[in-house]
Amino acid sequence: MEDVRQMATEQIGVINPWAVAQQQFDLAAEKLNLDPGLRRVLREPRRELTVHFPVKMDDGTVRVFTGYRVQHNLSRGPAKGGIRYHQDVTLDEVKALAMWMTWKCAVVGIPYGGGKGGVVVDPKKLSRREVEGLTRRFATEISIIIGPERDIPAPDVNTNAQTMAWIMDTYSMHVGYTVPAVVTGKPISLGGSEGRNEATARGAVYCVAEAAKHLALDLHGAKVVVQGFGNAGSIAAQLMAQEGSTVIAVSDSQGGIHNARGLDIDRVIAWKQEHGTVVGFPGAEAVSNQAILEIPCDVLIPAALENQITARNADRIQAKIVAEAANGPTTPEADATLFERGIFLIPDILCNAGGVTVSYFEWVQDLNRDHWSEAMVNAKLKEIMTKAFGETLALSQRHEVNMRTGAYLLAVDRVAQATALRGLYP
Ligand code: NAD
Repeated sequence: MEDVRQMATEQIGVINPWAVAQQQFDLAAEKLNLDPGLRRVLREPRRELTVHFPVKMDDGTVRVFTGYRVQHNLSRGPAKGGIRYHQDVTLDEVKALAMWMTWKCAVVGIPYGGGKGGVVVDPKKLSRREVEGLTRRFATEISIIIGPERDIPAPDVNTNAQTMAWIMDTYSMHVGYTVPAVVTGKPISLGGSEGRNEATARGAVYCVAEAAKHLALDLHGAKVVVQGFGNAGSIAAQLMAQEGSTVIAVSDSQGGIHNARGLDIDRVIAWKQEHGTVVGFPGAEAVSNQAILEIPCDVLIPAALENQITARNADRIQAKIVAEAANGPTTPEADATLFERGIFLIPDILCNAGGVTVSYFEWVQDLNRDHWSEAMVNAKLKEIMTKAFGETLALSQRHEVNMRTGAYLLAVDRVAQATALRGLYP
């Protein structure tokens, strides 16, 4: 098994996120001395749905798209997790993301299991009407397993509040009444929560603040680099700037920009809105998406996709804190290198859990027909993130392991307990 796992990850140069997710789980299961039966159960997803569905394009032709919805573990509650639209989506990627959601919800102690969905598509190549058609048909295909008590999707890469509004409407049309709680990350006018749009980034910044406290690092004037400039990355950059930090480099899928004296993030956001990319922003040098990771800085925030920090570049990372706003940006081999080099990594299942935490608040508000103020949302979010950070840090110190393993020890133990207490049916 060891051989298969190694071959599946970096040894053959192709990094499979599912192999990474299982490797991370195995490490925690070993340390927790988890019962072999439970280990077998938690190592696999509960359900994997693959759908191939037709969409009529603007020119009248019909294209068939492939999509997935995976539910990893449902012991602690309904499945929860985003839907991603990307040309490179694979079933293994969605399985990994679903498993990470299980641990994430357990780290922050919210009553959900893990789920994730994805469609193999580059939505930037479709018209708005085509994206709506694709979304409504995909929602219909997965409606056999989603629902407010069963599985609640949310936005992820290349999906947003509008996508969630279409899914909510499609689901509601099927059942004949309005069901706001079937998705989170909706527009506020449709039952979305205050603070949800910023929640992933805000949660990450709360974690960075706790890490800085732990390392006695002053965030005022600290140099920050952000890879990925979408929902998570651009808002993290904005919030770090509001903390008084200097954001010196940011990037998106087309490339990056660097200015050692600092970038005006509000102006970069406006530039991206106008030009569709951060590239070309005046007064900054161009930098590649790989080179941006190696810029000397205090806080490096990967906020794009998986497998960015690997065995190939981990020894060249020059940050004091790596805050994983993205899911799965660091491989296990790179984790070990960063830990040996004394770089403090805040793992994805803790660092970006602010998104699912406020999604949970949104679901609670929808079920109760309630609406909370942004101040209340942010205060509750801060309390949950700070507590989870403290518990993770304490476990990692007690077991002398990195923060990722600390977070896994916390999460896997919670999920294992719930699974064992429920027992084996029938
Ligand atoms: P998004 O679509 O809003 O933004 C993604 C950004 O990454 C875009 O700027 C895109 O150009 C950039 N990008 C894509 N490929 C890249 C590459 N190879 N190099 C550099 N940049 C690249 O997506 P998002 O919601 O911000 O998600 C980003 C990450 O955060 C993902 O890993 C996602 O799973 C994770 N995440 C998001 C949420 C959420 O609430 N949106 C919650 C938890 C985790």
